[in-house]
Amino acid sequence: MSKIHNFSAGPCILPQEVFQKSAEAILDFNGSGLSILEISHRSKDFVAVMDEARAIVKRLMKLGDDYEVLYLGGGASLQFAMVPFNLMKSENGKAAYLDTGTWAAGAIKEAKKLGTVDIVGSSKAENYSFIPKDYTVGSEYDYFHCTSNNTIYGTQMRTFPKVDTLMVCDMSSDIFSRVIDFSQFDLIYAGAQKNMGPAGTTLVVVKKEILGKTGRDIPSMLDYSLHIAKESMYNTPPVFPVYASLLTLQHLENHGGIAAAEIRNEAKAKLLYAEIDRNPLFETFCVKEDRSLMNVSFKLLDESKKEEFDNSWKAAGINGLNGHRSLGGYRASLYNALPIESVQVLVDVMQNLK
Ligand SMILES: *Cc1c(COP(=O)(O)O)cnc(C)c1O
Repeated sequence: MSKIHNFSAGPCILPQEVFQKSAEAILDFNGSGLSILEISHRSKDFVAVMDEARAIVKRLMKLGDDYEVLYLGGGASLQFAMVPFNLMKSENGKAAYLDTGTWAAGAIKEAKKLGTVDIVGSSKAENYSFIPKDYTVGSEYDYFHCTSNNTIYGTQMRTFPKVDTLMVCDMSSDIFSRVIDFSQFDLIYAGAQKNMGPAGTTLVVVKKEILGKTGRDIPSMLDYSLHIAKESMYNTPPVFPVYASLLTLQHLENHGGIAAAEIRNEAKAKLLYAEIDRNPLFETFCVKEDRSLMNVSFKLLDESKKEEFDNSWKAAGINGLNGHRSLGGYRASLYNALPIESVQVLVDVMQNLK
């Protein structure tokens, strides 16, 4: 099998070691003679997996006992609804949202069903090519919601605002990719399939004290407090995605943690952006200062070279480089597990396009 360079935006590349260990666990989990696909989620061995999968997140994020970690189903998209259900007051509920892309807009749409949503900043009119920065969020809001990395447009929040209310962040596409002070957030969520595991589970990290204050009757499956009380096993959890996520996070912890990942991610992004800036044939969709280290969305300026470029990167073993269908162009996702050698292969292809 020749080497494939997987730039897919999600589900995405994971460490080879994770595939290897996942495969072993499918055949024989922990020497039990049973597959991870058939064991009970109440078995001692899986309860240990869930406990460690929850604990390792707090270690990596340097968070204390005031935070709880959940692995839920429903994707990051379900969190668009769960967040307002759990944080928006039932009477005169009001939240502030930052509109930085398709996913942020999806979160806004769901929150509007439960209360008032004020969009405190938006770059929609300019095709989400930058991150709005001039806004304030006062204490009249139940919470503020932002998206740390805009997977489609290739923009990323380099800094986070100080707000006078709860701080909620969708970190689906850059979680565990860079060092940030996670304790500035009251609630973080992320679909696993972008940077921490396979599709099928969503990580939620929530500060316990913010829950139970809305006066709202929350459907059980949408109630964070209930999931916390049941240690993320209120119903059958996504057993295999949780296990594979744990393997990915263990791999991260054993390779220097988030700080080391950040150094590798910065080197990869620097290499690719340097070529985009040098090469007159390519350009990013967004302004320089808001460029993402995770998803590099770019376009080819000379359409007549499209066929040659597409053929060249495919011939080089590159996979998943097409841009999101809503934006077009190209998108190179540089998630934690992508080696810099793959970025070099792409840069070589770009350099050879004359
Ligand atoms: C992919 C993505 C989502 C949607 O995730 P699902 O798990 O498919 O629901 C939400 N937010 C961001 C930032 C994403 O990149």
